[in-house]
Amino acid sequence: MGDYTPEELVWSQTMGQWQSHAGLDIAAGAGEAVVACADGTVSDAWRDRLWGNVIVIEHPGGLQSTYAGLNTLELVKMGDAVKAGQVISSVGNTAICEADLPFHLHFALERDGKPVNFAELLAS
Ligand SMILES: [Zn+2]
Repeated sequence: MGDYTPEELVWSQTMGQWQSHAGLDIAAGAGEAVVACADGTVSDAWRDRLWGNVIVIEHPGGLQSTYAGLNTLELVKMGDAVKAGQVISSVGNTAICEADLPFHLHFALERDGKPVNFAELLAS
């Protein structure tokens, strides 16, 4: 599964190219609930050509979480306030650029537009 490598290039089997991976692929079963990692507001929800169904949530403090490859965009919409742990979608296989991976959630966290390393965040 993809590790968090925003600066390091990793080989993508699906895309047939080297690319950085500013996110974390969390192994999950098909249809498993995807929940908001913290309180916030849905700032974007769209179907991406590469990433499939994507939901972005803005959190206080300039944090932004992104959930990609989702099964559905029907549970929340732009402007919705969400609580930590609230179900926003379910795990799908809609991310074309990671279709060679088993079912998973592609999760990314940014602060002020820059990728955040989860390990560092948890340690601080
Ligand atoms: Zn990924």
